[in-house]
Amino acid sequence: MILSKKVGKIAPSITLEITAKAKKMKAEGTDVIILAAGEPDFNTPLNIQNAAIEAIKNGYTKYTPASGIDELKTAICNKFKRDNNLNYSSSQIIISTGAKQCISNVFQAILNQGDEVIIPKPYWVSYPELIKLSDGVPVYVSGSRKNDFKYEEGTLRKAITPETKAILLNSPNNPTGAIYSKEELSFIANIAKENDLIIISDEIYENFNYGNSKCTSIASLSEDAYNRTVVINGVSKTYSMTGWRIGYAAGSEKIINFMNNVQSHTTANPNSIAQYAVLEALNGDQSSVGLMVKQFKDRRDYIVEEINSNNILSCLKPSGAFYIMIDISKMLGKVINGNRVNNSIDFCSLLLDEEKVAVIPGDGFGVSNYVRLSYAVSMETIKEGIKRILNFVQKYQ
Ligand code: PMP
Ligand code: GLU
Repeated sequence: MILSKKVGKIAPSITLEITAKAKKMKAEGTDVIILAAGEPDFNTPLNIQNAAIEAIKNGYTKYTPASGIDELKTAICNKFKRDNNLNYSSSQIIISTGAKQCISNVFQAILNQGDEVIIPKPYWVSYPELIKLSDGVPVYVSGSRKNDFKYEEGTLRKAITPETKAILLNSPNNPTGAIYSKEELSFIANIAKENDLIIISDEIYENFNYGNSKCTSIASLSEDAYNRTVVINGVSKTYSMTGWRIGYAAGSEKIINFMNNVQSHTTANPNSIAQYAVLEALNGDQSSVGLMVKQFKDRRDYIVEEINSNNILSCLKPSGAFYIMIDISKMLGKVINGNRVNNSIDFCSLLLDEEKVAVIPGDGFGVSNYVRLSYAVSMETIKEGIKRILNFVQKYQ
């Protein structure tokens, strides 16, 4: 029997796959250091936990409108006004089962067979697969290391064809941590305007910004940018709520309605209890966010210094998110225990076997000579993980 040819071409999420494998090894008693998935190690703040318990007790355990409850849409509009200087009304908001579902919904809402979506390379693993699932075609624009792998005007322009429908932007970026300046966002907005393209702006890491100026949403640059942008955000990272599965999107009523139509037939509403918890996350005390971000910055600084202190590995200093891309070029071609390291997948697999450290191969993000390390774990775990990684490369250099 031939199953779906389309799904047959979809790779599973490598970030989730490796993390699950490493967690299983750990549960079986292996001393594994997991620097894999981007999942903050902090507990969800107590005020948010309590709001969920109250929601259950109050009987908020039924279906809600498919696109989410009105109170939460209002809170999301207030958040956009407060943090991003963006004015949305509730009819321009959809709440979904994670930002991942928002991204899936938006591609289904806007793409027809063969429509192209430009994505920056390296890219987060799910973008190409979600585009393909919606019959679209991912078009990769490679960034250069000296420009933190960000879009550059010339290469972005060159990638546009009559089939281009949208440009995907992810700032702060997973996996590079790069943050776009206002000027860089302006050239992207101009290109989108000139070619009448939709901008999908994934801003899920907006709070993980280690510089002095706030992240800018491209939608806030002009009325035109506002009208053509769908902003994606969520609470998984900012409030350490990965398992609660709430994300949200804002954009034109027309696109949001299409997204809602898709969602109403697939998952229907996102979890009702989690929606009430997120109401507290957005409206309540925000102090936990700053405390968490401060620790992330210390972790980043430690790793960058350690990785660049040897002559085998190297990395850039990311401005945001909680990932480090480590250049493993000098390890490619080495033979380790009879196995040749041909790419980052081989490197990660040998590192896991030999030193019991789980990191994600850059191949999953479209770059073979890098691995991605997540520092959403304790400093103690990071120190042990880095020690093992350096031991591994020094042994086999
Ligand atoms: N966008 C990016 C760039 C991500 O790294 C993730 C990872 N979780 C998501 C979206 C989706 O997040 P969630 O579904 O947990 O809201
Ligand atoms: N987005 C996180 C990561 O890149 C979580 C896993 C996933 O959803 O891909 O590690």
